[in-house]
Amino acid sequence: MSPAGETPSLPLPEFVEWSIFPFEGELRVRQPKPLYPTDRPRSGEPGGGPCHACAAGDDEYIWVDKRWRVSAARPSGVPVQVFLETREHLDMDDLDDEMAGELGQMIVRLDRAIQAVGGIGRVHVARWGDGGSHFHMWLYGRPRGAGQMLGFCLPMWAEILPPTPEDLWQANMAVVAAELAEVSGTAIARP
Ligand SMILES: [Zn+2]
Repeated sequence: MSPAGETPSLPLPEFVEWSIFPFEGELRVRQPKPLYPTDRPRSGEPGGGPCHACAAGDDEYIWVDKRWRVSAARPSGVPVQVFLETREHLDMDDLDDEMAGELGQMIVRLDRAIQAVGGIGRVHVARWGDGGSHFHMWLYGRPRGAGQMLGFCLPMWAEILPPTPEDLWQANMAVVAAELAEVSGTAIARP
């Protein structure tokens, strides 16, 4: 029921009843807003503020090579959460065929490197790119056996569950960095 005078909410989707959905209780769909004429500028675009990735030194990353860098997210409710970035300021549609091919290899290498931490059921990969214009992908290591964290709700669970303790987080990052450095590049994160 919507209060008098308000547009009735859209019906709730089925997934709010699924066990992977992190919320329960009475829910209501937020009113969809009309579209703006265009997207607002992202960081690294005119009017969107400076690009943090371009300003960051290699010491702020866990692993680097000539064209790619991997950084740790702040500790979250999953054992591993990292970003894969291009070293140069490029967006996804700027990648030439060679870089696009390397991107595929980097995703697969990271999938293996994150699994090397142990206890990982699946590595989830996402590209949104709505906040920063410098190309970056999100990679999450989902804990094995975490039946409530399957699929598209994992990023929400990662924000909801207590963060992984800092020392364990750093140790996991060192494993990921060392695994990547077995093939190429330099591990910055150390055990
Ligand atoms: Zn940049």
